[in-house]
Amino acid sequence: MNGIFLHVRQGFEDDAQRELMDQLGPISTVQAQPRLKPSSAYVLCSLESLPDLSTRKKVPFDSLVFARQLIWIADAIDLPPTGDRVSPIMTAIVEKLLPSAESNAFSALSIETPDTDEAKELSQFCKSLTRPLENALNKARLLPKGKGAAHLPRIHVVLLSNSSVLVGLSDIENSSPWTTGIPRLKFPSDAPSRSTLKLEEAFLLFLGREQIAKLLQPGMVAVDLGACPGGWTYQFVKRNIKTIAVDNGSIAPSLMQTGLVTHLAEDAFKFRPQGLVDWLVCDVVEQPSKITDLVLHWFTRRYCKFAIFNLKLPMKRRYEEVKTCLDHLQSTCAREGLMIKLRAKQLYHDRKEVTVFAALSLKS
Ligand code: SAM
Repeated sequence: MNGIFLHVRQGFEDDAQRELMDQLGPISTVQAQPRLKPSSAYVLCSLESLPDLSTRKKVPFDSLVFARQLIWIADAIDLPPTGDRVSPIMTAIVEKLLPSAESNAFSALSIETPDTDEAKELSQFCKSLTRPLENALNKARLLPKGKGAAHLPRIHVVLLSNSSVLVGLSDIENSSPWTTGIPRLKFPSDAPSRSTLKLEEAFLLFLGREQIAKLLQPGMVAVDLGACPGGWTYQFVKRNIKTIAVDNGSIAPSLMQTGLVTHLAEDAFKFRPQGLVDWLVCDVVEQPSKITDLVLHWFTRRYCKFAIFNLKLPMKRRYEEVKTCLDHLQSTCAREGLMIKLRAKQLYHDRKEVTVFAALSLKS
């Protein structure tokens, strides 16, 4: 079996699948057959054959809002109930995956399950397979060490049950940096709310460490709309960035004590900055279209350079809602002569919502 596998948030399989089918346009010569399994936390779409690397690039991971990870499946195998389970996986890797990988080795091995409570019961089984399979791969010289190997594709062995396994790969340049799309972030004990992890994950995914150092510098100015109790503001304060926190609620005193935060009990939709700021972030719970218009207002008036905001999605057809908002952002900016770089993702720390990054550059 060949196909595309996406790790997604449980309950969002339907949206992720509709999005994938839209994005598969460029490789539609390969007949795609989706098989939806509700609440499975994955989308699996079979393909006639595994596309080559240049065709795989035509399905950019960055453009898939609801996919946490994008994996190309080269084989589906059934494991025996007892005895040697490593050999059948190794055979699939050598005979099916390697010929499609367009490389003679891999950078890493991930043995994983979809992100559901039931699948987590397989985590012991995953662990028990890891060492023997790594040993077998090392013996076959398929997992070279060193910096030169970092660009090689990763092997994914996805356990759907204790007998049903998918064997595939992710291309490093076209996938999440985290094997299952789940970053291991530690909650800072002095942060005022857990949603601080949402903004931290957004910075890591949308900017990466190098860009973080450039675009989040001490002395910059940020506006945080719907800031209380201050989890997102915390991310700026820890980088010595002055932050205007706009919210009627109460902000954590620890943030105020830093002297970097100005708290304004105002309406996010009416507040206007006094001059250009570097960052706008917005976590206000409102209709996605209203948040989109608010952000558009900021960009078209040149109030900010970068924005990260949440689109809350309580409705049924979430993919269509997100697409409408992103299209509206893009087309309005184009009409106004603004070039805007947009990326949107349902982050691991997002619930019924997606996070959007927008960066402005003026048309020459
Ligand atoms: N990002 C925050 C954090 O990390 O702690 C959590 C924000 S919480 C999800 C949403 C906040 O938006 C609430 O504190 C609420 O008071 C605020 N809010 C809702 N409507 C608002 C409005 N029109 N203007 C300003 N704040 C608003």
